[in-house]
Amino acid sequence: PVLGKFTPANNGGQPRRLAVMTSGGDSAGMNAAVRSVVKMAIVRGCEAFVIREGWEGLVRGNHTPEHTPSATPSISRKSSTTFVDTSDPKGKATPPAEHDEQTGFVPTYGEGELLREGVGEAQELGLRGRYIIRVGWDDVRGWMDQGGTLIGTARSKTFRTPEGREQAAYNLIINGIDALAVCGGDGSLTGADKLRAEWPDLVASLKAKGRITEEQASKFAHLNIVGLVGSIDNDMATTDITIGASTALQRICEAVDSISSTAASHSRAFVVEVMGRHCGWLALMAGIATGADYVFIPERPPQGQEWHSEMCEVLQKHRDLGKRKSIVIVAEGAIDRELNDITPDMIKDVLSNDLGLDTRVTTLGHTQRGGKPDANDRILATLQGIEAVDAVLEATPETPSYVIGISENKITRIPLMFAVEQTQKVAKLIESKDFDGALDLRDPEFAEGLRAFKYISQITDDEMLPEKKRLRMGIIHVGAPAGGMNAATRTAVRYCLAKGHDAVVIYNGFPGLLEDNVSVLNWLRVDNWATRGGSELGVNRHLPDIDIGAVAAKLQEHKIEGLLIVGGFEAFSSVKILNDNRDRYPAFRIPIVGLPATISNNVPMNEFSLGSDTSLNALVDACDAVKQSASASRNRVFVVETQGGKCGYIAVMGALAAGAVLVYTPEVGIGLHQLGKDVAFLKKRFLLDVKGKSEGRLVIRNEKSSDVFTTEVITKILKEEGNSLFDARSASLGHTLQGGVPSPLDRVRATRLALKCCEFLEAEALKQRSSSSTSSKIGAGASEKSYSDQTAVMITIQGSTICFTSATEMARNADMKNRRGKTAWWHEFKALVELLGGRTSLAEL
Ligand code: ATP
Repeated sequence: PVLGKFTPANNGGQPRRLAVMTSGGDSAGMNAAVRSVVKMAIVRGCEAFVIREGWEGLVRGNHTPEHTPSATPSISRKSSTTFVDTSDPKGKATPPAEHDEQTGFVPTYGEGELLREGVGEAQELGLRGRYIIRVGWDDVRGWMDQGGTLIGTARSKTFRTPEGREQAAYNLIINGIDALAVCGGDGSLTGADKLRAEWPDLVASLKAKGRITEEQASKFAHLNIVGLVGSIDNDMATTDITIGASTALQRICEAVDSISSTAASHSRAFVVEVMGRHCGWLALMAGIATGADYVFIPERPPQGQEWHSEMCEVLQKHRDLGKRKSIVIVAEGAIDRELNDITPDMIKDVLSNDLGLDTRVTTLGHTQRGGKPDANDRILATLQGIEAVDAVLEATPETPSYVIGISENKITRIPLMFAVEQTQKVAKLIESKDFDGALDLRDPEFAEGLRAFKYISQITDDEMLPEKKRLRMGIIHVGAPAGGMNAATRTAVRYCLAKGHDAVVIYNGFPGLLEDNVSVLNWLRVDNWATRGGSELGVNRHLPDIDIGAVAAKLQEHKIEGLLIVGGFEAFSSVKILNDNRDRYPAFRIPIVGLPATISNNVPMNEFSLGSDTSLNALVDACDAVKQSASASRNRVFVVETQGGKCGYIAVMGALAAGAVLVYTPEVGIGLHQLGKDVAFLKKRFLLDVKGKSEGRLVIRNEKSSDVFTTEVITKILKEEGNSLFDARSASLGHTLQGGVPSPLDRVRATRLALKCCEFLEAEALKQRSSSSTSSKIGAGASEKSYSDQTAVMITIQGSTICFTSATEMARNADMKNRRGKTAWWHEFKALVELLGGRTSLAEL
C-alpha cells in the first residue's frame, strides 16, 4: 500500500501545496514525522511547506503585503545562509517546482542549513516575519535523529479565538496551501478539529470582507487536514501509541533503572513522578518495565478510600520477603477515588512515617521529553507521515478528516472528530469518577498492562486457585538470547505464584531438561529480571529432537502440565516437533505455547518478536554514531553490516529508522545489475549535494544478503566508483545488536504476551484435566482423543490482533530452509527506505 499510490497529486494542473506543522508540547519523533511528510509530499508531486511555531505561526503567516496565491513566496538556493524571497511583488506566478527528469530529484529550496540550526534560528526567522516556508528535499536531511521539533512549536492563545482562526485560514488560502498535516497532542488536534468545523464560515467571512477572492473561496472551500499524534503522554484515545511516547518511556526507564541500584544499595524507597496529567500510560508502562512496586495513575485510583494502607500493604509484603528497594511511580495527574490529588510528597510522608522507609522523591520533569528519538518513534513517525500524506491528498469534501493512529502493528485512520471526542471523554469520565469508563476508552494494551502489573507486583491470595486446579508449568528458553526473555519469564513465574501453580524453570534449554537442570522459582528470585538482558535461564540451539523420547520422559517425570517455550525460530521448531510427536508420546499432549523472542524477527506469521525492538535501538544508536563520522568527513558512504540470519527485518527497519539510503536483504539478494544502478544513484546523489554541504550516507547490508557481494566487496566497489565524489568504509555491528539492557517496549511486550500465554496454558491444561479425569496420573497428558494442534501454538502479533497460531499452520507459512516466513509485512519497506533516501521514482528502484 505504501508504494501503490504513485500518481502525482495536482490541483487543476498546478502542483498541490501541502504544509506540515508541529504544535503543543514537543515530542521525540516530530522531526521524523515532518521529514516523512515533506519527502512523501515531494514524491507525490506536491510543493511542500513547513509552518513554524505551530498554530501561532499559521496565525502570523508571512509578513508580506496581501497577495494572491500565485505570488506565494518561493525560495531559491542562491544564498547559503538566508532564504531569498523570489515572489514577484506584482503577483506574477512563480514557476512550480522543477523536477529534474534526469535524476528524479526535486531541487532543494534553500540550503536546509537554516532550518537545521534549530529552534533558536527558528525564532529569529519568526521574528523576521516568516512562518510559512517552502522546503525541499534536502531541507529535512539529517532530521531523523534529532529530538524535539526543528520547525518550532508554540502554544497559541490567538488561535483559540475565532479571529485567530480566521487569520489562520486566510494565511493558508493566500499561500495556496490546500492540505495541512498537524503533528501535536490532543489540544493541537482539538484546534485542528475546530478549524475544520468552522472552515466554511471562515471562508465565507473572509470573502465577505473582501480579503479573498470569489475564486479563492471556491478553490479553498474545503479544508484538507490530517492529524498526527505527537505527544509523550500517549493520551490520545483511539490509538495505541503516540509519536514520542516510547522515547519518553525509554528516558523514564533509564532513570528508574539507575535509581533502582541506589535504592537497593541503601535499602531505600524512591517515589518517582512522571508526566501524564490525564493519562497514566507512562507511569503504568514504566512500572511494568522497571519492576516497580506500586504505581498511581489517574484512570485507576486505589480501590479503597485509604490509598495509604493499600500501598503500604503491598510494599510491606515485598519487604517481608527480603526486598531491599521500593519504587513507587506516580503520574502527575494521580488522584484518589474522590479526585483529590495524590502527590509524591504525600506518598513520601506515608512511606517514611508508616513503613519507616528512608524515602526520596525524584521528579523527572522535562528530561522525559525525550531528546533523540528511539527506533520505534522514528519508524512510527515515518510510516504515519506517509499515511498522513496519502490521507490528506485523498480527502474529498465527503470524507472525514482523519487522525493517523496505530493499532498493534496496523497504521489506521480515525476520524479526527471522533478521536478528539473520545479523548476529551476520558478526562470527563475521570472527572465524574467513572474510572472503569475511562479505562474502556484506552487501548487494550492499557487494561492488559494493569492486569499484568497486578500479577507481577502484588502478593495476594485473591486469585489463588483451589488445590485441585493447581498446575506445574514448565518454562524454557531456546535459541539465542533476546531482550525481553527474562521479563517474560518473570511475569510467567509471578503469574504462576499468584494462581498457586508451580513455575518449573528449565535451565540450559532441552539439554538442561535431560540433565534434570530444573527448579521451582520463588517470587524474589525473579525480582530484577525485568531489566536484565540475555537469558537468565540459559539458551542453546538444541531442539527437542536431540532425544525426543528422553525429552518426553523428562517432561513426564517433572510432571509438566503446560509448557512455555521462549525463543525464536527454534521455539517455533520446538513446538512443531513436540506437536509432530504427540501421537507417539502422550507427554507432548500437554498445552504448549511458544513466545517469539529473537532479534532477527524471523518467526513466521508473527510481526514482532521480543528482542527486535532492543536490537533495532542498538542498531540505530550505532548507525547514528557511524553516520556522524561519515558526515564529519562530508562525503563518505558507510556500509554497515547487520545480523539477522536469512531474514532482512533488522536491516530494513534499521535502515528506515537510521535514514539509510540503501538496504540489502537476503530476501532480495544482490545482483550485478542492481549494484550498478545503486552506484549510479549514489553518484547522482552526491553530485546533487550543495558544494561543501555534502553529508555522509549509510548503506545497510544484512550479513547473508549475498555470498559474493560481501560487505567488503561492496565497500571496495563503492570506493572505486566513488572516485573523487565519495569515499566508502564499512562497519560490522555483529553481536552488539543483541543489545544490552532490553528496551522498555520489549519488556512491556514480554510481560503482556507472557501473561496471555500463561492464561492460555492454564485454561487448556485445566480443560485437559477435566476431560481426562479418568486418568489419575498427573502429567500424563490428555487422553488419546482430546488433544488438537490448537494446543501446540505460538502467540503471534498479526496486524491489529494478537492470536495463538498453531505450529501446523505456521509451518505452512514457513520457509524452513531459510528459517523465516514465506512473506513478511515489512518487505515493501525496502523500497520505501530507498525512496526516502532520494529515489523519487519507482523506476529508479
Ligand atoms: P501536549 O500533549 O504536549 O499537551 P497539546 O497539543 O495537547 O500537546 P496544547 O497546549 O493543549 O498542547 O495545545 C496546543 C495548541 O493548540 C494551543 O496553544 C492552542 O493554540 C491550540 N488549541 C488547543 N485547544 C484548542 C481549542 N479547544 N480550540 C482551539 N485551539 C486549541
